[in-house]
Amino acid sequence: MGSAVLGEAISAIRDWSIGRSEAAAGPKATETFGSLVFNDTVQEKRLPKAVYQGLRRTITHGEALEQSMADAIAAAVKDWAVDHGATHYTHWFQPLTGITAEKHDSFLNPTANGKAVAEFSGKELIKGEPDASSFPSGGMRSTFEARGYTAWDPTSAPWLLKSGGAVTLVIPTAFVSWTGEALDKKTPLLRSMEALSKQAVRILRLFGSKTERVVTTCGPEQEYFLIDRYFYLSRPDLINAGRTLFGAKPPKGQELEDQYFGAIPDRVLACMNEVESDLYKVGVPVKTRHNEVAPSQYEIAPVFENANVATDHQMMVMETLKRIAPKYGLSCLLHEKPFAGVNGSGKHLNWSMSDQEGNNLLSPGANTHKNAQFLVFCCAVIQAVNRWQGLLRASIASAGNDHRLGANEAPPAIISIFLGDMLTDILEQLEKGGAKSTKHGGVLDTGVLVLPKLPRDSGDRNRTSPFAFTGNKFEFRAVSSGQSIAYPNIALNIAVTESLDEVATMLERAVAGGKSIEAAVADLLPKLVKQNKRIIFNGNNYSKEWAKEAAKRGLLNLKNTVDSLPQLVTKPTIALFEKYKVLNERELHARYEIMVETYNKTINVEGNLMVLMANRYVLPAALEYQKQVAESVAAVKGAGGKSAEGKKLLGSIVKLTDEFKRRTDKLQKALDHNGSGSAEKHAKHFRDSVVPAMSALRDTSDALESIIPHGVWPLATYREMLFIK
Ligand code: ADP
Ligand code: MG
Repeated sequence: MGSAVLGEAISAIRDWSIGRSEAAAGPKATETFGSLVFNDTVQEKRLPKAVYQGLRRTITHGEALEQSMADAIAAAVKDWAVDHGATHYTHWFQPLTGITAEKHDSFLNPTANGKAVAEFSGKELIKGEPDASSFPSGGMRSTFEARGYTAWDPTSAPWLLKSGGAVTLVIPTAFVSWTGEALDKKTPLLRSMEALSKQAVRILRLFGSKTERVVTTCGPEQEYFLIDRYFYLSRPDLINAGRTLFGAKPPKGQELEDQYFGAIPDRVLACMNEVESDLYKVGVPVKTRHNEVAPSQYEIAPVFENANVATDHQMMVMETLKRIAPKYGLSCLLHEKPFAGVNGSGKHLNWSMSDQEGNNLLSPGANTHKNAQFLVFCCAVIQAVNRWQGLLRASIASAGNDHRLGANEAPPAIISIFLGDMLTDILEQLEKGGAKSTKHGGVLDTGVLVLPKLPRDSGDRNRTSPFAFTGNKFEFRAVSSGQSIAYPNIALNIAVTESLDEVATMLERAVAGGKSIEAAVADLLPKLVKQNKRIIFNGNNYSKEWAKEAAKRGLLNLKNTVDSLPQLVTKPTIALFEKYKVLNERELHARYEIMVETYNKTINVEGNLMVLMANRYVLPAALEYQKQVAESVAAVKGAGGKSAEGKKLLGSIVKLTDEFKRRTDKLQKALDHNGSGSAEKHAKHFRDSVVPAMSALRDTSDALESIIPHGVWPLATYREMLFIK
């Protein structure tokens, strides 16, 4: 791109490094961590004792918050917020589309004497009424009905958002309709955690535990790109679609693998630093940061937490990245595939369960008893993933993730589990019914389980698997970079809930019949392994052989969003969600409809944007270059010479330009198709006609890009966007 944009980007980087290279060190993170959160410490200090204890019971035991306590909490949280300079509050929620939504209200109430006081009642804390009639509800909330309301989720602490000089009290909330139907992603997540807890506790009881609740824990690793903001702003596709719709691969890609874990550039590091420092203050325990495989790609990961809080915090991570990057002249891209031909971004959802005392239920134990318990929970997850592959696949389906899954950089669309050699070996022994020893250690004999200590980070970690056991947790790796982790969490929770329920029932029966718990487990595990082992695959998930083998095993291979989404509304899925009261049929259908619509809207926007960019950017550049070469050939001829190569070049430009125009028209035609018919029908049309037309158009554009001179080509190139930092 020869325009001024490149020059501006370069001088901005220079100015930045001169101006900030000596940035002063801020206060210690240990001092600021959680300083903007109405957390346990603040609650204890600021709340009357009885109210504090009541709130604790709500948080740890899921007891309903008494209305009488709400006023006291509201007053305390308001005073605390105002002490920190807050003027407004917002009920922050996760609507069914997009990331989060918020509407800010002032604390100020005018008084009769012409002044104003800061006020905030229990009612305003517990219930807010966003003017949210335009949030999609998948038909659950017709406009004449009362609107939905937001309600504080006391298990996620309020915090202060400092941005643009304003301080706002942010209250994490659930969003429900007046009839009690969930209009958001948090409500079903909380319900699914509750359901899992109940079943897991039944099993723990059999092992003698007195714990009252089990929480799912989660630590999501986020991948993202940071590119210079000048380039970002110069590309309509990045602004409106989040990804490049045109753009030839750079000569130097990630082939050299010199970026992964390499030194982080100064400006990027400074940006990460501020992101992390802001996140610490609001209590998000981010821990690791590093370069990723692709140029200009990075990763940020927190320490794991309760899955509900982790999900809120994940949103805050994405929002903070987006918010802080421009301060450093950067833009953060969270799209799954911002650059074709370059690695895309995912999000690894590390998932486990823990009892109230903090014991990780997926951690192999030090003794027989604990190992039996570990194997029960582990096999329950294996069964859950085997049975609900389709649901898990659908929970991560999106137009963006379609570019990633199965593209030999991300896991394939086929869901399978990587267990590692040792655990696989143990399960094989179990299935055979109790061999005395294996190459790794004794396993199972007459009800006695002896597991070797599994190394937490065994060398054979498989990067190609969509779902891997990584020593003390499972890692769902097919999750997409831009999505909320609520849906994959819910899908996992509910699938595992069902497994745990069945396992608990069988074990309870056996124990009631006089068996020891170890003997009951020894009877049960071989069956579980036998029934579910097809889901286990430790080989290369990228290979063609695996696709064949998976088909033989009867595993689903749902290649794209359109194929996957119907899994959300199959009869068994609906029955599962209703049984554990996570979502009723209407609520589930609403989510399905919204996901189909979102897919359609995404492709429609991308397609139209592509036509626009084709006509206003690429085609004029192609015609311009065509003219330049034609003039050059004519000039040579006029001077009595011959330009054989020039003529050849002209011929190929004319050919490509014509083809480009034809393909633009073809895409336009595909987009113009009749708007009647079901959303599903549209989705199929988008997948089968529009997406291929887009990719054909892109091919021609990328071919043009590789011959059109730098000064004529109107778009920032991959080389510029990915390597100037
Ligand atoms: P690695 O980097 O090798 O994948 P880490 O131990 O650094 O492994 O963990 C990666 C992510 O997994 C982190 O976000 C971490 O918080 C999360 N994690 C670790 N233990 C658990 C657990 N018990 N439950 C949920 N997430 C976990
Ligand atoms: Mg990981």
